[in-house]
Amino acid sequence: MPASIVLGTQWGDEGKGKVVDYLADRMDFVVRYQGGNNAGHTVIAEGQVLKLHLIPSGILYPHITSVIADGVVIDPRVLLEEMDTLTGLGVDVSRLLVSGNAHLIMPYHLEIERVVERFLGKNALGTTKRGIGPAYGDKAARIGLRVQDLFDPKIFREKLDVVLREKNVVLTKVYGRLPLEADRIVEDYAGYADRLRPHLADTSKLLHDGLREGRRVMLEGAQGTLLDLDHGTYPFVTSSNPVAGYALASAGIGPVWVDRVIGVTKAYVTRVGAGPFPTEETGEIAETLVKRGGEFGTTTGRRRRTGWFDAVILRYAARINGFTELFLTKLDVLSELSPIKVCVAYEVDGDRYEDVPPHQSLFHRATPVFEKVEGWWEDLGDVRSFDALPAAARSYVKRLEDLVGVPMSVVSVGPAREQSLPVAAREA
Ligand code: GDP
Repeated sequence: MPASIVLGTQWGDEGKGKVVDYLADRMDFVVRYQGGNNAGHTVIAEGQVLKLHLIPSGILYPHITSVIADGVVIDPRVLLEEMDTLTGLGVDVSRLLVSGNAHLIMPYHLEIERVVERFLGKNALGTTKRGIGPAYGDKAARIGLRVQDLFDPKIFREKLDVVLREKNVVLTKVYGRLPLEADRIVEDYAGYADRLRPHLADTSKLLHDGLREGRRVMLEGAQGTLLDLDHGTYPFVTSSNPVAGYALASAGIGPVWVDRVIGVTKAYVTRVGAGPFPTEETGEIAETLVKRGGEFGTTTGRRRRTGWFDAVILRYAARINGFTELFLTKLDVLSELSPIKVCVAYEVDGDRYEDVPPHQSLFHRATPVFEKVEGWWEDLGDVRSFDALPAAARSYVKRLEDLVGVPMSVVSVGPAREQSLPVAAREA
């Protein structure tokens, strides 16, 4: 069927790359729709573990056209570096297409983000310092430069001069930094333009025409629902919208084409950086989850915070995104952790909440109401069908499904493709 949206249900790092890999055979286009090079997919190419930050993981499949859509912000230097790495590994990157409407991350975005985070001190957001937030800020302020500007040197220079005048005042007068030189930026970006020219495309038209011809499109979100600029735990969020609705706004296609919205969820929860996390564990359980789950950031290498599965945020994510199904990853990590805790509701000041409290201050004070579920002791890595899972593991999956109210279509017990187990009669 035509278009599927795949996105994270928690705070990111749910294993979205795994789902793309699982469904890739059936896809013609894979589209990245928001964020920048702050995402991270761990993929295996030519036997090498590779971390992709910007390019959709669809690039590894020769039959797939990979698209970077309008709503992404692009650091062209990083994009070209990723393309070179892939080319060096024998991956053909000629099928990567980039929307001319996508905004560019400029050197002053990186510089400003660095100095602002330092200025905020203990209130810093803990951003990845890739210039992504400032680039989205300029997009909203309508002073951003876009990919298409790279191909009109006169316009590029004009826009750059206007914006740099203001940025340099801020850098020098507010933060005591050195000004940036327009000539240097123009020279660097002209070089990027030469190399990116063959990849420029009217991606909305391309996808629309493809869909009309019966081709299949996967729209791939980065980060996760709780990091959404509007629906996440603001201000501890990303500066774009991972939610399903934005996939269409960014790709420039209508909702009528979408028939699957797949929520990728870990069997437990992780979060990077600051912000509320009701089911967080800090002791031995956290240590085990981090170690067994390899919970270190793909982009930053930062150790992730970890905790038990939270059905409250999953119900919320299901509401915001309209999931048709869930893809559960990393069930194997929970072996030997019996009893497993599952958060079924929150308590705030003595009141019980079945839903995420609508106000930030309540959410920050939320404590989890846990239910204990019997665990299992077997290693799940070699299990090759859902029915062959230990009964306790199947019950755990069923319990999560009931608590969230969305069917599980696939359960994954390891990083390899054959470790994705379709749940009988559900998987489309
Ligand atoms: P993404 O950004 O959502 O794709 O997530 P990451 O790339 O940060 O995390 C996925 C990591 O978990 C990768 O290293 C995967 O190989 C690994 N992974 C995915 N699914 C499973 C699973 O079911 N079990 C285990 N043990 N690892 C998995």
